[in-house]
Amino acid sequence: MKGEKKKKIIKTIKIDVDKCNGCRACEVICSAFHAVPKYSSSNPARSRIRVIRDPMRDLYVPVYAGEYAVAECAGRDKYTIDGKEYDECSFCRASCPSRDEFKEPDSGLPLKCDMCEGEDEPLCVKWCMADALVYEEREEEIAEQEEQEDLDIGLEALADKYGLKKIMDTVARMSEKD
Ligand code: SF4
Ligand code: SF4
Repeated sequence: MKGEKKKKIIKTIKIDVDKCNGCRACEVICSAFHAVPKYSSSNPARSRIRVIRDPMRDLYVPVYAGEYAVAECAGRDKYTIDGKEYDECSFCRASCPSRDEFKEPDSGLPLKCDMCEGEDEPLCVKWCMADALVYEEREEEIAEQEEQEDLDIGLEALADKYGLKKIMDTVARMSEKD
């Protein structure tokens, strides 16, 4: 019924860019966990976390794949934090047309972090020996209607761009992994 509230567990991963050393262990385990079959291969291009690296400037930014964006944004931001300048798009989580990050290499479909569904703790957090990633959970009340609408909009945008058949084929392939 419209307006009804339900409790939802919000899962977050806190990122400390100062602790990240760019080892990319998080990319390795994420791509292995999502390989088909599970753990059969490891390819960072399939990872739902990417580490934006610039060793010459001592910049390492772990970024999680977030929402799919139909269009690239027109204006972009540069950040200077503690005297370090971060490039445009460094902190952006979107799978968008202007870059290759967060796209499944075979199908081109966008990737999104699923918090390692089925695991008690995200694997990238477990594998980060530098403690740059910290997992947290909290409970929030949300309207049931809003959640469904968000899902509908996301699926519609994907189907418009890639075609329903391609998405169905990819989902079928993923469901064979276990
Ligand atoms: S595993 Fe940790 S330290 Fe290594 S790249 Fe990922 S976030 Fe950085
Ligand atoms: S939480 Fe899981 S799915 Fe998300 S980036 Fe980390 S390893 Fe990948």
